[in-house]
Amino acid sequence: MQSDMPRRGNIHSVESLAALDGKGIRYEVFFMGCPFRCAYCHNPDTWAGEGTMHPTAEELVAKIVRYKPYFGKDGGVTLSGGEVLVQSEFALELTRLLHEKGVNVALDTSGGVPLTNSVKSLLAEADMTILDLKFYDDDGYRRYCRGGIENVLATLDFLQSRGACVWLRTVVVPGINDSEKEIEKYADIVRRYDCVSRWQLLAFHTMGFAKYDKLGIANPLAGTPALPKDRLAQLQDYADSLIGDRYGKETKSL
Ligand code: SF4
Repeated sequence: MQSDMPRRGNIHSVESLAALDGKGIRYEVFFMGCPFRCAYCHNPDTWAGEGTMHPTAEELVAKIVRYKPYFGKDGGVTLSGGEVLVQSEFALELTRLLHEKGVNVALDTSGGVPLTNSVKSLLAEADMTILDLKFYDDDGYRRYCRGGIENVLATLDFLQSRGACVWLRTVVVPGINDSEKEIEKYADIVRRYDCVSRWQLLAFHTMGFAKYDKLGIANPLAGTPALPKDRLAQLQDYADSLIGDRYGKETKSL
């Protein structure tokens, strides 16, 4: 039997003027829930349970549109987490309402969720997707994220088939994936996807360590140092040289 109750999101938190996840100034919504348990996760408090807000899509849109004047021509809303795709039906409703208000929507996802109809509809509705390519093979995913690569590649295949605008991101962790040889293995995957217009390497940092202590969760990377900035720059240059200049390839306006 269909419920008449409006659907509500389970939201960890929001950030009204964010600038890191997508183009321009963005209103960022962090969804609760995640299928992965990445060893380097700095948001373990988003993995499970109840967040701080349970709005309907209409309520959230009413909050967001107050910030529309700040978005300018490039900015908008980024739906992140945790993992936005685990609440794909709510996120789809939210995205459609934001589009009705003329607000651009980006998804920031691990791609670790099976491609259900609502996940596909959400990926197709969003203006762009920022996808984590965490490891280049299933072993890496299983070892460090406690999940597989299969859904990630299926998500990329789907985005490619739609001619979507995709940015990839990879966190680089000292001693785990910080060699040129490993970057080459990632690049072998990136090169397969024309839809990818940007591949950004991110430095592992230790700022999330305190959350593990607070939550009483064992930190698998305790003792691992942050990746130095100059090493990140070297690896980013190398990564760019392997995939070529893709900055002109965005097929949907942001
Ligand atoms: S996918 Fe993101 S939120 Fe989920 S465990 Fe990995 S880093 Fe954390």
